[in-house]
Amino acid sequence: MQFNLIDERWIPVIRRDGTKTMIAPWEVTDQFKENPVVSLDAPRPDFNGALIQFLIGLVQMVAAPQNNTEWRKKLIDPPKPDELKKMFATVHHAFDLGGDGPRFMQAFESFDDFTLSGVAGLLIDTPGENALAQNKDHFIKRGTVNSMCLPCCATALFTSQINAYGDGPGYRTSLRGGSGPLTTLVISDDRHNTLWQLIWLNILEKGCFLNICADAGKIAPKDTFPWLAATRTSEQNTGHETTPMNVHPNQMFWSMSQRIKLNIEETQIGTCDICGNFSNSCIAAFKKKNSGVNYVGSWLHPLTPYRQKEDGTTIPSHGERGGLTYRHWLGYVSVDSGNNRSPARVVHEFYKRIKPDWQFRLWVFGYDIYNSAKVRCWYEAKMPLLDIDKKILKTFEDEIANLVVSASEVISNTKSAIKKALFAKVKGVKKNGEALWEIPTSIKEDKEFFYQVALTFWQSTEAIFYHTMFLLKDCIESGKESLGIKMAWHRNLCESADNIFVSNVMNNSIEDTDPKRVVIARSELGRYNRGKKIKELLGMPVEKSKSDKKIRSKKEKKQSKQE
Ligand SMILES: [Zn+2]
Repeated sequence: MQFNLIDERWIPVIRRDGTKTMIAPWEVTDQFKENPVVSLDAPRPDFNGALIQFLIGLVQMVAAPQNNTEWRKKLIDPPKPDELKKMFATVHHAFDLGGDGPRFMQAFESFDDFTLSGVAGLLIDTPGENALAQNKDHFIKRGTVNSMCLPCCATALFTSQINAYGDGPGYRTSLRGGSGPLTTLVISDDRHNTLWQLIWLNILEKGCFLNICADAGKIAPKDTFPWLAATRTSEQNTGHETTPMNVHPNQMFWSMSQRIKLNIEETQIGTCDICGNFSNSCIAAFKKKNSGVNYVGSWLHPLTPYRQKEDGTTIPSHGERGGLTYRHWLGYVSVDSGNNRSPARVVHEFYKRIKPDWQFRLWVFGYDIYNSAKVRCWYEAKMPLLDIDKKILKTFEDEIANLVVSASEVISNTKSAIKKALFAKVKGVKKNGEALWEIPTSIKEDKEFFYQVALTFWQSTEAIFYHTMFLLKDCIESGKESLGIKMAWHRNLCESADNIFVSNVMNNSIEDTDPKRVVIARSELGRYNRGKKIKELLGMPVEKSKSDKKIRSKKEKKQSKQE
């Protein structure tokens, strides 16, 4: 069976007039002036996340601009489909999903002795053999995906390879690790909103890409596409690791840590369980073997933010429990935050290309995978990208960090108040008049519940955070006083905290909730949120407490005596 991913129309997209269609990769600029392709239209959000990386990888590899002038020109005047087709033809041989030769993202060697698994195992949120054996498949129920059309199967295979989480002994994680690597892409404003422009905004100049990491001198086809030669296997004790110096930079887009073979020999006629389309050649099974390519070392994938460890090695950013919220914004966009985090290279380069009137954003996405091989969910978020003058960057970032820290403090207070209102007892009164709480040891903290409390808080204050951020930027640029803006932010935090307290405490079904302790907990929440710690963080005036005043008056008396 032949199915070449350069030739075939297998990528689901939407055109500006709303038409849904399938295109071959080189048709992405088809009808660019009249009715361009504006977005991907895969049946699952993680497939869209994989397809955009497939297209960026392809364009970066064979159509990257030589310099910034060429990049700017092609942003608004892209190569014609025929030109793209010619460029993509140079790698055509590596993109056969079936056929007798090497197959896209599938192991070169045969392993006939292996038994077949159901094709559902290619989906990231479907448990592998190991998880099935341990009954961990609560995320997606078994038996709902038995058949995939070739476009869905190719996408599932690519998605699985670039997000591999090592689900079993000897199964290797992806080049960006196994805990759900994050991808951050620069996305267009209203004037640059075609699919081509989304791709092109995330393309680096050729020289820049080749110098990120890995060895541009490794020009054998297998150094870019690992499936074109026998796998660099990684059996325990005998196998080898694959570091950036072993391969060409292109392999960052085409990494293959899993040895997979689709059962292309036995296709079937029927309906695809992913997209619902009828197909003459659906795939029902695949084989998978451990000891695939073991990527180690300091990779710097151009679409992923990284964190630097003390020993100098880099770790890709991953999804975190509690969702992608504005608390991560600085880490994804800040080039100079000094917190050992660096944004994806495409974001870094974007700042050099930005024009004052561009209002571009960042699209962040990835899986939440925890404790190796437990998949919680797929996250995605869109965040603003700002062009900040280098002279005020440090001040601006400090202010933003304080907004985030103050929100974290308020969340912590809110969680604590909810816990007290629902579970604790007031044992007495402290010297300073505050209640003395006792939380029974029999109460086990419901982590899931409190993650939700935090997530609701981040989400409910997100719009006002970005609004505050823009106001602060203007203030700092023009040298105006920003106290009023920060006070408004503080007011919003306090109101959100109170709303979340009320909705969680009043709506709970715990029978013995004591109205008195609810009142005390709520009043404490208000007092802590308006207390010294948070106000100081935001540079707001702090009223002197009674004890502060006492200390001061004693000092003053002492001073006047000495005089
Ligand atoms: Zn399908």
